[in-house]
Amino acid sequence: MQDDDRTQALASLVVEQTDNAVVVCGPDVRVLYVNPGFTRLFGYTLDDLSGQRAVDMLAGPSTDRQALDAVLDPAHLSSFRLELLLYTRSGQPLWTSIVANAVCNAAGKAEHLVGVLSDITLTKMHEVLQHRALDAMVRELPVAELMNLVCEEVERIAPEMLCSVLAVDEHGLVHPLAGPSLPVSLGEALEGEPIGPEAGSCGCAAWRGEPVEVTDIASDALWDQHRHLVLPSGLRACWSCPICASDGKVIGSFAMYFRERRSPSPFHLRLAEICVRLCALELERERARLRLEQLSSFDMLTGLANRIALKHRAILVLAEQSQSGTPMAVLCIDLDRFKLVNETQGHTAGDAMLREIAGRLMRCVRSIDLTGRLGGDEFAVILPACSVQQAATAAERLLLALSAPLTLENVTLQPAASIGVAMFPDDGTDIDTLLHHADMARVQAKSGTTRGGARFFNEEMQQRTRERVALEAALRHGLRDGGLRLHYQPQIDRRSGTLYGVEALARWIHPELGEVPPARFIPLAEEAGMVVDLGRWALSEACRQMGQWRRAGLHVARVAVNMSTHSFQDEGLVARVGGLLASNGLTAADLTLEMTESMLLDATPDVLATLHALRQMGVHLSLDDFGTGYSSLSYLHRLPIHELKLDQSFVRDLTESATARTLTNTILRIGDSLKLTVVAEGVETVEQAQLLAERGSSIVQGYLYGRPMPADALASWLSDGGLDQGAVVLGV
Ligand code: C2E
Ligand code: MG
Ligand code: MG
Repeated sequence: MQDDDRTQALASLVVEQTDNAVVVCGPDVRVLYVNPGFTRLFGYTLDDLSGQRAVDMLAGPSTDRQALDAVLDPAHLSSFRLELLLYTRSGQPLWTSIVANAVCNAAGKAEHLVGVLSDITLTKMHEVLQHRALDAMVRELPVAELMNLVCEEVERIAPEMLCSVLAVDEHGLVHPLAGPSLPVSLGEALEGEPIGPEAGSCGCAAWRGEPVEVTDIASDALWDQHRHLVLPSGLRACWSCPICASDGKVIGSFAMYFRERRSPSPFHLRLAEICVRLCALELERERARLRLEQLSSFDMLTGLANRIALKHRAILVLAEQSQSGTPMAVLCIDLDRFKLVNETQGHTAGDAMLREIAGRLMRCVRSIDLTGRLGGDEFAVILPACSVQQAATAAERLLLALSAPLTLENVTLQPAASIGVAMFPDDGTDIDTLLHHADMARVQAKSGTTRGGARFFNEEMQQRTRERVALEAALRHGLRDGGLRLHYQPQIDRRSGTLYGVEALARWIHPELGEVPPARFIPLAEEAGMVVDLGRWALSEACRQMGQWRRAGLHVARVAVNMSTHSFQDEGLVARVGGLLASNGLTAADLTLEMTESMLLDATPDVLATLHALRQMGVHLSLDDFGTGYSSLSYLHRLPIHELKLDQSFVRDLTESATARTLTNTILRIGDSLKLTVVAEGVETVEQAQLLAERGSSIVQGYLYGRPMPADALASWLSDGGLDQGAVVLGV
């Protein structure tokens, strides 16, 4: 018995002393008992509640009555758990967790309902706000949307107030971000307003760096400017608090508006504290995002705008220009032979060069002009309010500035650039078209006879481009469907009167245009990226033909195939050559690969390695069009070549020009001293042949002996005494 008493005493001790609110109701859900914890939490005593339906007393404007009625139906009383917004005696909202247990009699009917209520307001606010806000941040919701979400959530938790968030920029100007329930006109009026001691609740709070309380908007001087915007909506009081970044700088303000003249309750202040923290987090994140955006719109190397940023800005400028109808120029600039700098001087030097070029561009343009790096060694300059004449002058000025000598780590370079210009609105009205057309003009400038310089876009270019595209397609078909042939031009050894070899030259018959000269379709294939395929085809076709000649007993000592740089960049070239030689029963000495001098200037270490591997195999390498490029002797002797082809321009001028004769002498001597065979190209006349013979040139090729001819024609040429004729001409 004594034990029972003790248990009873302890039980009542728990009930009396706990901070939880305990309520006991009868089967009609009317209150029989509340503990002191209940009184402390809600303010009601047992006297206030005794015999009342607790629900009626605790529910308020934002209580979910439906949920409550559902669990408190006297007809089906049972245990339940619920989280609910209830109100204290003084009307303060409280998020409450309710755990209710039905106590049943022997017949299973509920006689009592024992409820334990605890205040979960803070946890709830935190949980809801934090969860929602962080979730939105993770989803990268725009800042205004996220702030709206926070406001809406707060207004749901504390429906008796409205809230707003403003951002304060680095110039101290306010930018309303959210205020979902506030009059729109208030936000509009505040946009761009400076913060200050008299700048309304929010502007003042941001200015002072501490909360500002206005309990009566109607009479407070702080609201003189804007009161008319909020009073009609029934807003009477405002409490505003600065939002600070982690370094203490004010970056925004958070405000709560009330429909009564009042101060915020401790509950409101707790709520505000949570909100301000979340807002600070979001505003700081937004600043970081903007900073990142700014960083990503700049080219890290040169500090110029990158392609995206340049286009962005150009779109804005274009919008302005199109209104005023002012012309504008778009310049595409590209450095000549930049790749070579990268490859020979290293990437650090290449980077330094790009930085220097960017600096020169910046120094050349006006402050309203836009300068950007499109990528690699391509730059663009956009000149708003610029006539054709001004654009031409600007291009000249840029070319001049860019071509000034540049010293990088002891090497002095002479940069050169090609510039293409497109004019708004004549050459295009949107930035993509303008950039594209400027680029087309640039390509023309670069490929023109005088490499470099500036070109304006014109309709003809576009027309030519269209034609080129059509021609490219036709060539692609030709290459695939056997529309290309190889012709072979004899090369004669004057001393022995024998066939030194043949050069394989590609021929293309266009279905409509007829024969298209290689000088036209080879560059086309280069531009269209078909040149490697063309090279593969020529190589395999020439080897096949050689095999066939050999089997037919026709003595052709070697076949020379013209190759482009890209073919030597092809990793599989060495293996392919080996395979073709083997499958056609040829040896490496049967094949010569011709490359141009200019190609070697652009040669990368990989290309050089391929050349060495080919030479190692025994394949002959020949330098075509020799004398037209820039070869220095020191460079030449390091190359794994066997042969030089004296360019036909020297041969052509031999009779007229003393210079051509001197240069020919020199080239023949270079050949001698480097132990290279020299093949003289383009010999057309007996005089030329004689002048060459006098200078000791022994291998000749030209119309005088034989034109490039189909494979079967070569057999007839040989049997018809083509070689003898050659010997006669040469006076052997
Ligand atoms: P190239 O390699 O210097 O070829 C010599 C060019 O001179 C040929 O022009 C040939 O027909 C021409 N020629 C030969 N003898 C004489 C002559 O006595 N007088 C004159 N005026 N010209 C003569 P073609 O066949 O028009 O080829 C032009 C260029 O196209 C070639 O110059 C070569 O660089 C390129 N090419 C031709 N076929 C191929 C090929 O299969 N692949 C590659 N990559 N390029 C090729
Ligand atoms: Mg050639
Ligand atoms: Mg040549």
